[in-house]
Amino acid sequence: MYIASIKKNTVILGAGITGLSTAHYLSLKNDDFLVLEKNNIVGGNISSEKKEGFIIENGPNTVLLNNDSIVKLIKAYDLWDNISLPKESAESNRYVLLNNKLQLLPRNSLEFFKSPLLSLKEKLRLFKEPFIKKHKKNTSVADFIKKRFGEGILHQFVEPFVTGIYSGNTNNMSAKHTLKILWEAEQEYGSVIKGMIKKERKAKAKIFNLSNGLSQLTNAIAHQLHSNIQLDCLIKKIEKNDNGYIIETVNETISCQNIISTLPAHALAHYVNDKTLKNCLEDVEYVSVDVFHFGFYKRDVNNQSQGFGVLSKASDKKKFLGILFNSRIFSHVAPKDQELFTVIVGGSRQKHLCKIESVKLKSLVLEELMELMEINNEPIFSNHYKYPKGIPQYNLNHQSLLDAIQNFENNNPNFHILGNYFNGISVSDSISKADNFIQTNF
Ligand SMILES: Cc1cc2nc3c(=O)[nH]c(=O)nc-3n(C[C@H](O)[C@H](O)[C@H](O)COP(=O)(O)OP(=O)(O)OC[C@H]3O[C@@H](n4cnc5c(N)ncnc54)[C@H](O)[C@@H]3O)c2cc1C
Repeated sequence: MYIASIKKNTVILGAGITGLSTAHYLSLKNDDFLVLEKNNIVGGNISSEKKEGFIIENGPNTVLLNNDSIVKLIKAYDLWDNISLPKESAESNRYVLLNNKLQLLPRNSLEFFKSPLLSLKEKLRLFKEPFIKKHKKNTSVADFIKKRFGEGILHQFVEPFVTGIYSGNTNNMSAKHTLKILWEAEQEYGSVIKGMIKKERKAKAKIFNLSNGLSQLTNAIAHQLHSNIQLDCLIKKIEKNDNGYIIETVNETISCQNIISTLPAHALAHYVNDKTLKNCLEDVEYVSVDVFHFGFYKRDVNNQSQGFGVLSKASDKKKFLGILFNSRIFSHVAPKDQELFTVIVGGSRQKHLCKIESVKLKSLVLEELMELMEINNEPIFSNHYKYPKGIPQYNLNHQSLLDAIQNFENNNPNFHILGNYFNGISVSDSISKADNFIQTNF
């Protein structure tokens, strides 16, 4: 078989949002680059689909509009007018469970002190926080919150919140890296509460989606940069030589000066020779998540609670980690007389559920959804999507990973590592990290 040989200045590995935004910002520097993606589509975790009148998101549903890099990216692809902002109630109302029913999370301090989620003793415990000594060394999210705020806050507020973002286990997660803002407030001011009061109060960032789903953004970037992107591209190995790096794929050999990896940790582990980094990358825990979508006629849904959705905690003993009230967040995602819900299952807490056969799992989660939202007729639409290696965890071994990456980059000039498994997991973090990286290095 003929193996072509090509030369590029830069090769970006992976065409998820990190790889595509890196490619976008690099294209503005007129660099000669190529993006290699193993799948036949771009977007990675971002995966929007139009089905039976619904617009569904298999992966991320909302993105924080909290940095200039996102704004620049959306404007560069003429998508600013396609931004969908959530309904006001979805911005303010989030639920947890109390006695098997939806319970609104407090939206201000008055509601906090009135909330049935905590006992009076647990509420008053908050006043002790400024007097508790700061941590001398890193600890788990669970221990950090328990020490500073008590068990009540951990279970009623932090556990569901961590479930919502990481689907993780608070006993294993690193406080320093997962609760970065709280950790830094404690370290700097000796108290999270004091730190949060003293730190500049920023206006709460908005969240958004796009009129045709988030894939509209990744597809637009891919369309514009199509000649720089190779899909279905399986990388065999990466080697260093005197001039830079040689990437061997099934069909070609690419020599380049710079490599920017945006691959998941487990994928990058195949291509690095550095044993310490390889082990650290293999050790990054990725939790599985199963995502179900259900559509119903509005007339069949009796629970009218408006808001973003509901998150569960371990003691609720539910199959679902979270339920998003999609059509109560964004009206354009469902036909006018219909409702769309997303049910997320699995994570660190319920690994076993992701192994259950699809039809059975679907009926288990549907039963819970119908009971909670008081739905009295079968769904008119359903969809199931699996992320076997969905969400990376920032666990207690996280610092060794950061050190190994730093050490590898020092020993392998121009081999750069980006990704959602360190320094921020969200789509907005991914875009701003890509932009900052290109502005600093090119
Ligand atoms: C179910 C779910 C819900 C989420 N919800 C939200 C949310 O609401 N808001 C939010 O901000 N974030 C959310 N996230 C997180 C966010 O989606 C991700 O962190 C972000 O999309 C990661 O993008 P990435 O490009 O870094 O990685 P990925 O999307 O994983 O992209 C990596 C790319 O590399 C490719 N690849 C892998 N191996 C190879 C190889 N050997 N060679 C070439 N290419 C390879 C993959 O196919 C993929 O395209 C969610 C994630 C999941 C899974």
